[in-house]
Order: sequence, then structure tokens, then C-alpha cells
Amino acid sequence: MKIGMLGGGQLARMLALAGIPLGCEFTIFSPDREACAAPLGRSCCYDYSDAEALMDLAASSDVIGFEFENVPVRTLDFLADHLPVRPGPEALRLAQDRVHEKELFTELDIPCAAFFPVDSLEDLHRAAALIGLPAVLKARRQGYDGRGQTLIRQMDEMAPAWQLLGGQPAILESLVDFDREISVIAVRAASGETAFYALSENTHHHGILRLAVSQPHDSMQAQAERYAQRLLDRLDYVGVLALELFQAGDHLLANEYAPRVHNSGHWTIEGAATSQFENHLRAIMGLPLGSTALRGVAATINLIGTVPDMARILGTPNTCLHLYGKACKPGRKLGHVTVCADSMKQLNQILSDLSGLFSSEAVSAVAEAGHYQN
Ligand code: ATP
Ligand code: MG
Ligand code: MG
Repeated sequence: MKIGMLGGGQLARMLALAGIPLGCEFTIFSPDREACAAPLGRSCCYDYSDAEALMDLAASSDVIGFEFENVPVRTLDFLADHLPVRPGPEALRLAQDRVHEKELFTELDIPCAAFFPVDSLEDLHRAAALIGLPAVLKARRQGYDGRGQTLIRQMDEMAPAWQLLGGQPAILESLVDFDREISVIAVRAASGETAFYALSENTHHHGILRLAVSQPHDSMQAQAERYAQRLLDRLDYVGVLALELFQAGDHLLANEYAPRVHNSGHWTIEGAATSQFENHLRAIMGLPLGSTALRGVAATINLIGTVPDMARILGTPNTCLHLYGKACKPGRKLGHVTVCADSMKQLNQILSDLSGLFSSEAVSAVAEAGHYQN
């Protein structure tokens, strides 16, 4: 099957790596000349608003997918007039605007932090009076890896926080005092069949995901799946969707959803019977889903900004290295390491052995604290 992929980053690259054995042919459509997925398919370097290039893409594809959340929705709308776009434009439209996204959670009875749209400094004062401080001011659109977000603890931090956004429409959210962050990776086939992966427990540092750990029988699994199921059904969704959640006590609060494969699910390449990438492709091609069963326990460690000594990573048992072929740059996701193990005890031991290799304080801190128990 011919897949037209909008966006050419590491998610497209890993989708292509999963799709090649299934006989998929990819066209990677991205304005970025250096797109790291480009070597894995026919590559077009065009703007997302180039109608002629999009018509070519439509003519040479059976289905359109996307891996990049900031593809203009009008590009998907345009393509959807010619061939299936999966997931559909509505899932992207709502995810691109944090206010619409949180309104959707509210409509579906999925709890989330108190929030208020902010279009001016006066709005910000009103919002803070309503939801209280501390709170997080975020750009409504275009944010990723925690960019465009400022924590406001007291009144005199409001004006500088608003100024930092340069007048962009924003949202103020109350700061959630969470015990942990988790995500559930869900997948829905064109037939309506759904499946879920074991929850990931996620550690962020400076807004960027550093470490994701998955083990079976998480006490919040059923609740997280119920919330994700509501999103899948409401959006008549086809493909993989990730729902990021905060856990506070016994409660889950939704943070955001990603209408695509997700960084916290990279462990599924080695750690699950069918990876999130293969299941996404199966879904968008109208094929049955594969088993999401977890094999033992697994962790993903992100390589941010620099790549540590390859030989030491490869010399560590139960460890796999994925490099994305991107140039080193501070704060950039360059690759990840997956660790699979039979038990949390074994996983902790390997994480602790590896922790000295990574610059990430988060990974070291988690491993040293022995935070993950059997
Ligand atoms: P992503 O790369 O996941 O798309 P993003 O830029 O969309 O990131 P968020 O997921 O909203 O940003 O926030 C990044 C991180 O900041 C969260 O994972 C969490 O650690 C923290 N954070 C965001 N919003 C809140 C909140 N309301 N309360 C507490 N922590 C928060
Ligand atoms: Mg996000
Ligand atoms: Mg997030």
C-alpha cells in the first residue's frame, strides 16, 4: 500500500521502518530538506500549502497519514477531498488548540486542570483570579517539548509571562500537584476495534520527556483506557492516539492528547508483541490490529542533545539503540534507548548501570533513587 506521510521527523522514520516489512511504500512530504525520514521513502520537499504538490501526493498515495502535529488542518481538509486521511482532520484540529482540546475533555467527562482562555493581560488577571495561582500560561497553539509555557507563582510574574508569549492567544491552566505523569497509547482500527498498551510512567525534565517506564497491571490502567476510549469513539478515530495524564491520588487528569504515535510508546518496538508504529499502519490501512501485549517490562530513555558512547550502550544486555540520523543540537531528540527486562528489579539494575552515561538529570535521579519498585 502507498502511504503519503505528512512530516518527516523520527516518528515518520520509525513508521517507515515498521511499514517496509509490510510492503508499504512511503512518500515523505515535508518542507524540511534534512527530514530524517526522507531516506526511507520517496521524498518530496514542498510546502504544506502547495496545492500542485499535494495533488501529486494524493495521486500517488492510497492513504494519507501525518506524524507532525503542526501540519495545517487545511492541508488535511484538501487531501481528504481526494483520498482517506487517517486519523481525520477533526482529531488534529482539536489537538492543535489547547482550549478546544480541554473543552473536548470536559465534553467527554474526562477530568482536566481548571483552565481559562487568555487573549490579553487583562484576561490573564481575570483567569488568575478565577483559577488561582500557581498556574501555567501556555500558548494555545504550536507548543511542543514544553516550549511556550511559563509557570506563574505570584501576581508580579504575570506581565513578564504574558510578554514572553508576544501577544499569542494563550491558555492559563492551574498547576497540577501530581504524584506522577502517565500516558496511555491507544489504537482504533477502521472497523472500530480498539486496543491499548500498558501505561507508561513518564519523567520529564525542562518540559522534555526523558524516561518512560511500562509494566503490567498498573492500578490506573482501566481508568486511563476508559478516557482514551471516549476520545477514540467521539473522534471516530483511526490510528494510534496517545493520552497524557497526571495522576493525583486515585484521580487522573488529562493533560493533552496526541493524534499520532507518541514518544512514550517507543518501547513497544521491542517490548510489545506489535509496536505502536505497526499498529498505526495496520489501522490506517484498514487491516486488523496486532496484539498490544507487553513482554516483561520496558523503558525508553530519550537521547537529548548528545549521543552517549554507543559501544557502552550496545554492550549493555537487554538494551537497544535507535538513532534518528539528526544533527546534534541542544534540546533536540536525537534518538532513544529501549531497555527490556523480565522484572522491575532487573530493569532498575540496568537503568542504574546506564544512568552514568546520560547527561539527563532525570534519568540519573530516577535510577539512583530506585524509584521504580518491583
Ligand atoms: P509535548 O512535547 O508532550 O507535546 P507540550 O509542549 O505540548 O509537550 P505539555 O505536555 O502541556 O507540553 O507540558 C509539558 C510538561 O510540563 C508536562 O508533561 C508536565 O510535566 C508539565 N506540565 C504541563 N502542564 C502542567 C500543569 N497544568 N500542571 C503541572 N505540570 C504541567
Ligand atoms: Mg503537546
Ligand atoms: Mg505533553
